[in-house]
Parts: sequence; structure tokens; C-alpha cells
Amino acid sequence: MPFPVSPLLSKEAIAERVKELGAQLRADYEGKNFLIVCVLKGSFVFAADLARAIDLPLRIDFLGTRSYGDGTESSGVVQITQDLSRPIEDVHVLLVEDIVDSGLTIAHLIKLLRTRSPASLKVCSLLHKPSRAKIEVPIDYLGFTIEDRFVVGYGLDHAELYRNLPFIGVLTP
Ligand code: 5GP
Repeated sequence: MPFPVSPLLSKEAIAERVKELGAQLRADYEGKNFLIVCVLKGSFVFAADLARAIDLPLRIDFLGTRSYGDGTESSGVVQITQDLSRPIEDVHVLLVEDIVDSGLTIAHLIKLLRTRSPASLKVCSLLHKPSRAKIEVPIDYLGFTIEDRFVVGYGLDHAELYRNLPFIGVLTP
């Protein structure tokens, strides 16, 4: 890896929190037509673990977005790189994000998906950096609140690297 990474959240701490979120989601979505929308690419690891922690029948779909270039600052422009494969009308949709930073990405996705008449639309994010918020967004299910540091691992990248680290850490160039 080009830069060392200092650990912030261990794989054990993440697994424990994912288990708790899974139990909470199981209780809230029981008996509903439930779809998890994995927001690519960053949330692919979280969504895979979360889906397996929810003991319910559910569907999974993928939405590709890109808001950062190869740097560590948001460009503020949200590009949709891949749309959902099926309509979501009358479906209970849970948007699964890796991190809510400025809030611009999730706000954009909420606006986009609302036009498709889902039965409900909620947000689950593994991480939140409240100090960086540029727009208020509802996070219905949250893993961890973190300081304003650029984090990598567990799906999160820097210039497409580090996604396969099993823990979350801070880049220390
Ligand atoms: P927002 O639109 O809320 O500013 O940013 C959302 C997206 O920016 C996230 O889904 C993630 O891809 C990226 N992002 C924001 N903060 C970080 C960070 O600390 N590390 C990494 N690797 N990506 C981040």
C-alpha cells in the first residue's frame, strides 16, 4: 500500500455494530417487501455483511455513484454510474451507504429515488462525519460517528486502493 494506515475501527468492532444494526432492521422490516440498495462502490463490503446480518427475506440492488475524483475532497458533483436494475414502486427501500460526509450524495439519491414512488425510503450509513455536513440528511440507521479524517478500508478507497482492508483506518502519508 502506498501510505500507512492507522487503525480507527477494528474488524471486531465493525462486526459487532453490523450485528446490532441487522437485528434492528430485522425488527423494523419484518413482513415488508424489503430491498437493500447498495450504493457502489464504497458500501459493497458493508452491504454484504449487513445483508447477512438481517434474518429476513430481502432483495439487493446496486446503485453506482461517484462523487470524489482521486483526491480526498468531494467534487460536490454526484454522478450516477449505474442505475437500479428494477423499479422500486411500492417497495420498502433501504439505501446503504459507506459514509455520509457533506451529505450531498445521499441527498441527491433520496431525491432521485423518491420520484419512483417507493413504499418507504430510509438510509443506513456505516459512518457519519457530522462536522462536514453541507446539507441536513436523515440517517435512520448509523454505525459510527467519526471525526473529520479521511478514512479507508472495509470498502472505502483512496484512488481505488485500500477497499480490501478488513478494518477502517486513517491514511497517514
Ligand atoms: P458526501 O456526498 O456525503 O460528501 O460523500 C459521500 C461519498 O464520499 C461517500 O459515499 C464516499 O464514497 C466518499 N467519502 C466521503 N468521506 C470519505 C472518507 O473519509 N473516505 C473515503 N474513502 N471516502 C469518503
